[in-house]
Amino acid sequence: MQWLLAGRLVDGTLNPPRQRVAIGLDGERIRAITPLAEWQPPPREAATIIDHLDASVVPGLIDSHVHLVFDHAPDSAAIRHRVQFADSVELGLLAASNAARCLSAGVTTVRDCGGRDLITLHVRDAIQQGLVAGPRILAAGPPIMQRGGHLSWCGVEANTADELRRRIQDLCDSGVDVIKLVASGGNMTPGSEPFTATYSEAELRAAVDQAHLSERRVAVHALNAESIRRAIAADVDSIEHCLWNGPDGQYAFDATAAREMVRRGSIFVGANMAGIDRILLPADAPRKQLRERWAGTREMLALGARVMLSSDAGTRGTRFDEFGLSLVCGVEALDVSPLEAIHRATLVPAEALGVDTDLGTIEIGKRADLVVVDGDPARTISDIRRVREVWQDGHIVARPDSSNG
Ligand SMILES: [Zn+2]
Repeated sequence: MQWLLAGRLVDGTLNPPRQRVAIGLDGERIRAITPLAEWQPPPREAATIIDHLDASVVPGLIDSHVHLVFDHAPDSAAIRHRVQFADSVELGLLAASNAARCLSAGVTTVRDCGGRDLITLHVRDAIQQGLVAGPRILAAGPPIMQRGGHLSWCGVEANTADELRRRIQDLCDSGVDVIKLVASGGNMTPGSEPFTATYSEAELRAAVDQAHLSERRVAVHALNAESIRRAIAADVDSIEHCLWNGPDGQYAFDATAAREMVRRGSIFVGANMAGIDRILLPADAPRKQLRERWAGTREMLALGARVMLSSDAGTRGTRFDEFGLSLVCGVEALDVSPLEAIHRATLVPAEALGVDTDLGTIEIGKRADLVVVDGDPARTISDIRRVREVWQDGHIVARPDSSNG
């Protein structure tokens, strides 16, 4: 048994933080959470006691949207070129290195939303086998899009409902954990139209049905209102970016569609706070720009949508070891409290990924994925970046400060 003494426990729910608690770990699971005042210290030889009474403990963070084979170069053309032409061993090593960096930001679980071939599945398995350090990975493998569509430089193409079904079945047979579907153009792919929907509602429906037959969830990339409406009607599992732009690129929030999404209850929204958002943080003036970009997400939150904070790490300027910045953006852009930002980067994505029986909160019975941070991130969200120690399955897997200094 190990005991981790926490000055403050932020448990991933919206419950107020608890002060001075002892967290008991037995193997890979959390077995006890006791107020320090009632805690009976075990004899020294019977247990390990780790004192973090001057720090806060939060659940291992879950970044529900990363691209491990992307190298976050400042220029999307450079990222595309490398992903398309690099040797697969090179991309595998890059992905492993990116995965290790997630840990230093307190990210103990990621969902990879699209890479080349099955590279991220190999990285996932290598981490699981203990060959390399990294977060748990739920991997989509290659994303699926129409011919020449967004991410076609790393994905697989499907142009009809039949082709979608076949592709999805093949990917499920190959062992992917989730399906990533591209339902609009994207900014990283010249020639694709961000403000145009690609798949029809019927095609999306066929894809969702096929994936669900194999018990895989479907994450859909959508940068415009029409693609979002179709995704909602097709009952997808998460809508990534979920930016409400009209065909002209102007803001076009559709409250009726958003209400329908909330009514269905099972559709999550991925608010990707990427490098292009993170650079809007430091000065006061651009903050307005950041808020304008996310106006539709604030509207969805007000309606009760299940919004999670993620990063799109790997895309331009979006490092893997700065996930905390995405939470800072969330607080700035979405009017959520620091406590709620943490909730939307722990329990909410755990639910979206279907791993909430094991992960997402610090509760008895769950896996011991914990992050020790200096300060009080439930009050000052930037403290989430002051990572002192990261635990995964009851083991310390990163101590960023000591490794840096
Ligand atoms: Zn992405």
